[in-house]
Amino acid sequence: MNALMKLAAGPGHLELCDIPEPHPGPGQVSLEIRAVGICGTDLHIRDGEYPCRPPVILGHEFCGTIHELGDDVTGWAIGDRVTSITTAMYCGACRYCRAGQPALCASRLSYGGGVHGAFAPRMIVQASGLYHLPARQDFIAACLTEPLACVTKAVFEVGQLQAGERVAILGPGAIGLLTLQVARAAGARVTLIGLRSDAARLNLGQTLGADAILYAEDPDLPDQLNATLGVSEPGAPGADVVFECSGAGAAFGLALRLARKQGRIIQVGLFGKPVPSDLDLIVLRDLTVRGSFASSPTSWERALRLTGSGQVDTRSLVSDVFPLQDWEQAFARAASRSGLKIVVQPVPSN
Ligand SMILES: [Zn+2]
Ligand SMILES: [Zn+2]
Repeated sequence: MNALMKLAAGPGHLELCDIPEPHPGPGQVSLEIRAVGICGTDLHIRDGEYPCRPPVILGHEFCGTIHELGDDVTGWAIGDRVTSITTAMYCGACRYCRAGQPALCASRLSYGGGVHGAFAPRMIVQASGLYHLPARQDFIAACLTEPLACVTKAVFEVGQLQAGERVAILGPGAIGLLTLQVARAAGARVTLIGLRSDAARLNLGQTLGADAILYAEDPDLPDQLNATLGVSEPGAPGADVVFECSGAGAAFGLALRLARKQGRIIQVGLFGKPVPSDLDLIVLRDLTVRGSFASSPTSWERALRLTGSGQVDTRSLVSDVFPLQDWEQAFARAASRSGLKIVVQPVPSN
């Protein structure tokens, strides 16, 4: 079968390779991969900016049907429409595993970086990490369950977002637009912020429920934010919670200026390099700054409830669908930011 592999560390070394079709061992299943999203992380891996263990098949945002069952697998059947948590292996005993955060385990290996991922027609996954897809979702929509689970972790488990809180989201890419929908579902009031060149994405954000749209280039952005959030207190208030979803160099500094005193900043995007910021603002404004890494079993269950109920729409974030042989074009499109979410179909369907 053809599989998109990272063959060596450093920039590049990405190739479509012909490798034997894998078969599941005990406790595993083989999936027929119907859709796999290109993530910012995949671009960072392509560019040598994110750790992985080559040679490895990329792809961690996937869904498909069960193709073959390994020994000892019960409760699943061939043909089931499924997706899987990204963490493939973890110790199960450390403080993070016991706290329900196996993605933080020192022994963690994840699909599409630590072990083989989904840019291939077949993929081996642990049956223990499988979830049924909501009946209402097609495969193209459902491969976004993984980024959505990262977002539900950031919003609920890390951000502790409460109904009625005032939220600013930086970056109207796929993660920002998912964060917007989850924060709205949680009862927050949301202002979405992007660059003027993001106009199409910002418009989609408005369709998906943003209370207001603002431009990061505007020098009076903090005042505009207060106006849109309905902040009436004197002084220089700001958002209760800022989700920084862009990973753009200047965005963290902007987040520091947009959070209210004692507000929370949740860093969701990856910068891929060190970035300078005025960190004194963390002290002067009594801020809480937290990062949110990957997802957890709880956040997957939340994500699937939100798509199953229709409260979150992932399908309208997908701008392009490519067959696997056109992966180079697909990655270039993802890197160009001209589309939104780019999905690859190793096995075509719907
Ligand atoms: Zn991802
Ligand atoms: Zn562990």
